Amino acid sequence: MVDRPGGPRGPLPLVTTAGAVIVGGILAVSFVSSAFLGAFRSLSEANRKMTAPPCRICKGRGFTECRLCKRSSVIHWSPLLDPVVKKPCLCPTCDGNKVQRCLNCVGKGYV
Ligand SMILES: [Zn+2]
Ligand SMILES: [Zn+2]
Repeated sequence: MVDRPGGPRGPLPLVTTAGAVIVGGILAVSFVSSAFLGAFRSLSEANRKMTAPPCRICKGRGFTECRLCKRSSVIHWSPLLDPVVKKPCLCPTCDGNKVQRCLNCVGKGYV
């Protein structure tokens, strides 16, 4: 038999409470740090937006005219190498939006 000081129920609630405090603390810390990081990131992103020059390719719009369909939203694609069978297809690059995300600035409008 092990004779524990403070009785059999003594240390257990303390350990449980300490564990809960530690786990809660870790959760709180990770929550706070992720929130802080998110705020910091958006802040630095906003700073970048203010100071960064606008994208030259899209002139700061974040998108460019679709080069595949040239703003017609359809392409004349032939499944065979036969020019007789040519049917218009929805442009796979822009999905018919006639614009595509700027590849230079990844749609942000600045670099
Ligand atoms: Zn297109
Ligand atoms: Zn751009």
